[in-house]
Amino acid sequence: MNVPTTQGVLDAGARLAVEAARFTSFGWMRGTSGNLSEVVTRDPLRLAVTASGLDKGELTASDVAVVGPDGGPVEVGGIAPLTPSAEAGLHARIAGVSGADAIVHVHALNAVLAGHHWPAGVRLRDVETLKGIGRLAHDDEVVIPVITNSQDMTELGDRFEAAYDPRTPAVIVADHGLYTWAPTLKRARHITECVEWLLAYAIAIR
Ligand SMILES: [Zn+2]
Repeated sequence: MNVPTTQGVLDAGARLAVEAARFTSFGWMRGTSGNLSEVVTRDPLRLAVTASGLDKGELTASDVAVVGPDGGPVEVGGIAPLTPSAEAGLHARIAGVSGADAIVHVHALNAVLAGHHWPAGVRLRDVETLKGIGRLAHDDEVVIPVITNSQDMTELGDRFEAAYDPRTPAVIVADHGLYTWAPTLKRARHITECVEWLLAYAIAIR
């Protein structure tokens, strides 16, 4: 049992802000869309998640909310009680199920297009960039699952869990965007970049 510290949350917030600015520059967090999170404690599960309604290219370290396993806000001394993203519940579910400490959610166009073309999942194989998501460049059939969108995070979480494959650190939410996860935020960024490239490639050669 441990408690999130103010400094721990702000440190996570600073890292989330840097990555959010990067993803915004890629056009993957248009408007105020998308959200990023880091686990700050495991027992109990607490995540620092980007606050709702803010421009993701302009976040600062304190533009962060702390949530529990259901995505509801949790008070931490010294942290202003901002509204967490409505999607924080799915971040917490992904962190709990996968064991990942960093979760990325972006509204990358290629993820939505790929979900439209392949609603049963995006099949990929024999591409070098698959190594970037921890799979093999040859003779390894990779399926990026596609789940139906919902505004109910419990329902969406159940769909994620049903589709979850521990070998594949990404899921597409149809008509919505992409979630990826990894042990660190930097690794989650690399996975996001590679998945987005793989989806663009799949669309281009279909
Ligand atoms: Zn979203």
